[in-house]
Amino acid sequence: MAKIELRNISKKFKDDTVIPNLNLTIKDGSFTVLVGPSGCGKSTTLRMVAGLEQQSDGDIWIDDKCVNDTPPGLRDVAMVFQNYALYPTMTVRGNIEFGLKNRGVAKTDRNTLVTDISEIVGLAPYLDKKPQQLSGGQRQRVALARAMVKQPKVFILDEPLSNLDAKLRGQMRTELIQLHKRLGTTFVYVTHDQVEAMSMGDQIVVMNKGVIQQADSPMKLYHDPENLFTAEFIGTPAMNTMSMKDVRGLDVQANGYIASLGFRPEQALLNAGPEVRGHVIEGEIVTRESLGAEQIYQIRTGGGVFFVKTFLAPLATADRVKVTIPYEHLYYFGPGGERLRAGIEAGAKQ
Ligand code: ADP
Repeated sequence: MAKIELRNISKKFKDDTVIPNLNLTIKDGSFTVLVGPSGCGKSTTLRMVAGLEQQSDGDIWIDDKCVNDTPPGLRDVAMVFQNYALYPTMTVRGNIEFGLKNRGVAKTDRNTLVTDISEIVGLAPYLDKKPQQLSGGQRQRVALARAMVKQPKVFILDEPLSNLDAKLRGQMRTELIQLHKRLGTTFVYVTHDQVEAMSMGDQIVVMNKGVIQQADSPMKLYHDPENLFTAEFIGTPAMNTMSMKDVRGLDVQANGYIASLGFRPEQALLNAGPEVRGHVIEGEIVTRESLGAEQIYQIRTGGGVFFVKTFLAPLATADRVKVTIPYEHLYYFGPGGERLRAGIEAGAKQ
């Protein structure tokens, strides 16, 4: 178990600053997920924690030790990558115990550890098989087991599920969550997939262009995004947003200045009665995606195309609809994308 702190971390590759100044605390025993678009600096951040990449400036602390000068092997951190990098000629057992052998752990101790851990990750029946005889999910478990036998203070996982098909990925997510609970060790996980992040993490760090946009619990990110980037990144589909210049018929009093308005697809109502107090937009259904009980519509309005998600009986494409967003579910953002909260009162202009 370990707490990790990144203090004023910056990273340059030659003249290219990919992380200008990053501060982050990862609580002991947390499951922290770094999420953001490709190239935003997630892997680089992980690799600096593991010691595989040296920061240009700033300090990294693991527990009460500054590890700036500690080589990777001595940081007590184990990494799992998306390409499992297993030794093809070795058996599953050989792969799992390889690191232990190198460290001179006695055979009986190795056997006990390999047996215990292969039970935990469901590999016990496959110990004598070679990697090519295993499925993708089983290979990923070998990579996990190989990290686990080191009994590290911190697990670092870089997109470990991205090579698996959708069903197996879902299953492995659940297994990783359970594994984290069971081990109680700090997990730091990287993904570009916000659904994966939301379903796994207890702390989610949303990054863009090397800058942390928000670090919070999944619920807080969803209900209380601090800026437009996070609002438009989180959710399936993510928040609808429109520029205030395209908004008609909304009388808003704000002590700041509003640049854009947002609402979640699942918080808008279709063809609601006048008893619902909210902002109303008229539009036409462009597409409908039916997920069984749930329908996701794309609706073209004067202010742009919006997603609306509802459990109501399906409507047809080309139907004209009224989209009502209850006032309490409207989000407001300033010109820099910052969330505006205080002093905003909205009311229909009738
Ligand atoms: P992510 O994991 O979010 O996809 P990375 O951390 O891999 O992003 O990369 C962040 C940025 O740093 C990208 O612009 C990438 O091209 C650059 N980068 C990463 N590693 C190197 C390297 N070894 N040399 C030069 N640029 C790099």
